[in-house]
Amino acid sequence: MRKVGIFNSIHVKFVLIYVMLILLALQIIGLYFSQQLEQTLKTNFSNSIKDRINLVEFSVREEMLKERPSDDPSLESSLRTVLSGFSSDDINEVRVIDAKYRILASSVSDHQKMLVGQKTMDDIVKRAIVSESPQSVIYFNEKTKSRVQKSTHPIMNGSEVIGALYVESNIEKVFMQIDQINRILAGAAAVSLTITIIIGIFIAQTFTRPISDMRRQAQAMAKGNYSRKVRVYGNDEMGQLAIAFNHLTNQLLESQSTTEAERRKLASVLENMTDGVISTDRKGRVSLINDSALGMLRMTSDLVLNRPINNILGIEKEYSFEDLIEMRESIPLDFSTEDEPSILRATFSVTQRETGFVNGLIIVLHDNTEQEKIEMERREFVSNVSHELRTPLTTMRSYLEALAEGAWRNEDIAPAFLNVTQTETERMIRLVNDLLKLSRMDSNEYELNTEWVDFNTFFNSIIDRFEFSKSQEVSFRRIVPPVDLFVEIDTDKLTQVIDNIISNALKYSPDGGIVRFNVAVLDGSIRVSISDEGLGIPAANVNRIFDRFFRADKARSRAMGGTGLGLAIAKEMINAHGGKIWAHSVEGEGTTIFFTLPYEQHDDGEWDR
Ligand code: ADP
Repeated sequence: MRKVGIFNSIHVKFVLIYVMLILLALQIIGLYFSQQLEQTLKTNFSNSIKDRINLVEFSVREEMLKERPSDDPSLESSLRTVLSGFSSDDINEVRVIDAKYRILASSVSDHQKMLVGQKTMDDIVKRAIVSESPQSVIYFNEKTKSRVQKSTHPIMNGSEVIGALYVESNIEKVFMQIDQINRILAGAAAVSLTITIIIGIFIAQTFTRPISDMRRQAQAMAKGNYSRKVRVYGNDEMGQLAIAFNHLTNQLLESQSTTEAERRKLASVLENMTDGVISTDRKGRVSLINDSALGMLRMTSDLVLNRPINNILGIEKEYSFEDLIEMRESIPLDFSTEDEPSILRATFSVTQRETGFVNGLIIVLHDNTEQEKIEMERREFVSNVSHELRTPLTTMRSYLEALAEGAWRNEDIAPAFLNVTQTETERMIRLVNDLLKLSRMDSNEYELNTEWVDFNTFFNSIIDRFEFSKSQEVSFRRIVPPVDLFVEIDTDKLTQVIDNIISNALKYSPDGGIVRFNVAVLDGSIRVSISDEGLGIPAANVNRIFDRFFRADKARSRAMGGTGLGLAIAKEMINAHGGKIWAHSVEGEGTTIFFTLPYEQHDDGEWDR
């Protein structure tokens, strides 16, 4: 924020202008006044001198016009008598001069002796006699350090000049008077200036205070502080301006908080959206991107911001920014890596002004990976099912054709052929049953009929059943804790699961192999494992044996009547019980299938059901 310098302050400017105007007015008044005063005083002085001179002139003329012999000295003495009677503070000296510039008399007795009879050298006297008009001049007397007025008056006899009166008057008094009056005037001006400056400062304040108040308010507003209010000093234009200013502040505060609330709402909507949102400027550079979009593109915001959108989406070869503006359909984007599939769908919408000017583009990214996966699985499933059904059907058709072509008559082959068709039919029925089970599970159309059972008893009874009926040379080892482990399970469904795992273990066990059964109590669950010493499963496929129709060794599994759905069903069922199922296998050494079931340990052994 800029600070206002002292001479830029409106208050100081106002006072300065005001003071200068007053000074100018005082100057003009003072100048006019002192000039007029000087003029008047000088004129008054001259007039008073002139009045007295006129009296003297009369007497002098009388004396000069008296008939006398030319060398009669009585003229000078009578003139001296006339002048001696004429003395005043104002008049230093009066001389009488005749028309031939000869000094006849002086009022100063020293001069009387020295000058009488001499010719005067003063130009002013000569000029008065020649021009027949009074002359006057002021000069500065160095000796007395004062101003003196010299004036000459021609003495007329009708139209003839008979001489002149020369008067030296002391005008210094007039100047002293002017000085004194000027000093009083200056003093009065200084006092009135001081008073008006003080009043001016106060008056200026009443104008400038609301302005500087509003200035401070505007500065505070620029910093985001809207809590201040401008004081309203009156109802004049300033007061109304202050009211309008306060109103403006309120409006601004309101609209700012609305904008802020909208912004927060928008930000939280964007952040909580599962879809990715990207917006660009009019040149197609990314200006905003939400976290979901960053996650989908596997990027950080500093890598993305200000970069071209088609480059970010990896479609710069196919589409330019202009193409994307025209784009009406969504386009798929493949962001899959080796470990993780990721199929996105991008929809584009243009932000435009009313004039049609394109402001930018908004891109919504939708994660389509799951749908794509489901779609792919569905296609794979259909093709697997058709394949699984076609194999037994083809086998049956060839056998039935052979029978139809006459083999039925041959008692040696006909029963074997019928036996094959029967086995294939049974396998198809098993397959269809398994598919039905899975389909029911997928559509959640089944319910678990759970009951509390001791898992050890339940597990042992199933193992016993296999031990009695097994045809191979395989021995069983059980490691089960000798305690009751009560779990809530659907015994039918879990029997199917365990049946499937044990029959797989037997299927893949070599003669003389050992099948081990183990039950361990973990924190919050029990873990069951069934291991064999069979072929094992290649490491890459271990986790895939729970996928539908997956068979590690297709030929062998089919030969053994497997559908490839057993473990997939087992997985669904264990999941439905809230457990997990997984496999551990070393090729050539054997396979272990583990599964867990939720189990709460009761220390007191009491059972309240
Ligand atoms: P199948 O009906 O083919 O047995 P399953 O879903 O039960 O179908 O098993 C899937 C595949 O897992 C089998 O085809 C087999 O390749 C492999 N498998 C399952 N259990 C074992 C095991 N104990 N030893 C080796 N391979 C096994």
